[in-house]
Amino acid sequence: MALRLYNSLTRQDEEFKPVTDGRVHIYVCGPTVYADAHVGHGKTYVNFDVVVRYFRYKGYQVRHVENITDVGHLLDSGEDRILKGAARERVEPMELVERFTRRFFEDMDRLNVTRPDISPRASGHIPEQIELIKKLIARGYAYEVDGNVYFDVPKYEQYGKLSGRRIEETEAGTRVEVEGDKRHPADFALWKKATAEHIMKWNSPWGWGYPGWHVECSAMSTKYLGQPFDIHCGGMENKFPHHEDEIAQSEAAEGVPFCTYWLHNGMLFIRGEEMHKSLGNFVTLRQAYELYDPMTIRLFILTAHYRSRLDMTDEALDGAEKGRQRIWGAVRSIRQRLSQAPEGEASAEVVELVAKARAAFEEAMDNDFNTPGALGTLYDLTRDANTLLASGKALTTGDLAALDQAYRQLGGDVLGIIPDALEDEGRADLSAKLADLLVETRSKLRGAKQWAMADYVRDQLTELGIQVQDSPDGSSWRYLER
Ligand SMILES: [Zn+2]
Repeated sequence: MALRLYNSLTRQDEEFKPVTDGRVHIYVCGPTVYADAHVGHGKTYVNFDVVVRYFRYKGYQVRHVENITDVGHLLDSGEDRILKGAARERVEPMELVERFTRRFFEDMDRLNVTRPDISPRASGHIPEQIELIKKLIARGYAYEVDGNVYFDVPKYEQYGKLSGRRIEETEAGTRVEVEGDKRHPADFALWKKATAEHIMKWNSPWGWGYPGWHVECSAMSTKYLGQPFDIHCGGMENKFPHHEDEIAQSEAAEGVPFCTYWLHNGMLFIRGEEMHKSLGNFVTLRQAYELYDPMTIRLFILTAHYRSRLDMTDEALDGAEKGRQRIWGAVRSIRQRLSQAPEGEASAEVVELVAKARAAFEEAMDNDFNTPGALGTLYDLTRDANTLLASGKALTTGDLAALDQAYRQLGGDVLGIIPDALEDEGRADLSAKLADLLVETRSKLRGAKQWAMADYVRDQLTELGIQVQDSPDGSSWRYLER
């Protein structure tokens, strides 16, 4: 089936066609590592992780590049985020960068976000950024004034094609760059002159300075993915000016398209409000993990389509927690039964059930990565699997393995909400061994004609949700459905 996605650049649903058959080259704008990641970052990176995972599920060879911004990303006040953070923590800028890069990956690991194939750092790619700026000057798209280099926005006629803004409207977005030496208010900085006390600076053809934020993504994406590459992902809030400027720089420098598709994800809101430090509703992932299992947060994120806004409320998270328990409960039962089931092929009924679930799942995901729809098919599968498990039908290893594999691929590989080993499977294994021991003990009591004691063991097991069944071959047990 063909995968369709919504391309923010053309504002249309389009069939996915890769630059190179069988391959997908994806760039995601990464974090600026000056503080801990918040739940909004969690949404962004889970949204695009599922995109990467689904392409892999479909058999594409994916290269996923996601940068680490460790220089040049300025606050509205004009201060560099990294330098401000370093001053706050009283550490070297690179010490701060290292600390928050590690913490970022730890936070993402807990959300089960697959690590990018390449995580290039802006500070490690200064020569590439200088080369790009030199090329833009040579082609007449950039100019230098007293150690600062600007992109000449009016020269690039297609400026605004992503955000839909006209040049006259773009001035508000560039208010951070108040330098009086720009030729046009919409021009943005490619290279900034550093003052003597500025710590993170490099030598360049224009003297000591540092790159503007946008130029790193242009330089590092095409270095590792080529130009054009397939998909550029990022947050809706970065469409302008960041992504618009990336397109302008890369297309002006090379004269070919930057990338084929743009995916933008919607923001996370907290109880109906945009998250902001000044509103006192700022939640880091680490704070959220103290209240909810990271996998519940991941499932919660997937309950909304990636392009939609998602509202974080206690009710929504409680609902996600119940959903996770329901799915994990079925997976646990299937895996437990698998270790005790008789050998055999999967029955036609189970084969059909799994095929139906897989088809519905793929249909949802092929439709612009519709994760709420895909989750719905997992709940349907869970309902059908529970009915089957409770039906008393003799399920073989083939039946149970087919169900287990469907969960591993759809819920595990693609959605990432089912770990390979569920945390308490070891305990579950112990409970099965204890049930075996008690059933065997009961048989011995019956052999010794201690009927009352044997019945007591059987009744207590029933109380615990374990049904003992006697047959001429001996006694066995199964979990009762609750
Ligand atoms: Zn970027």
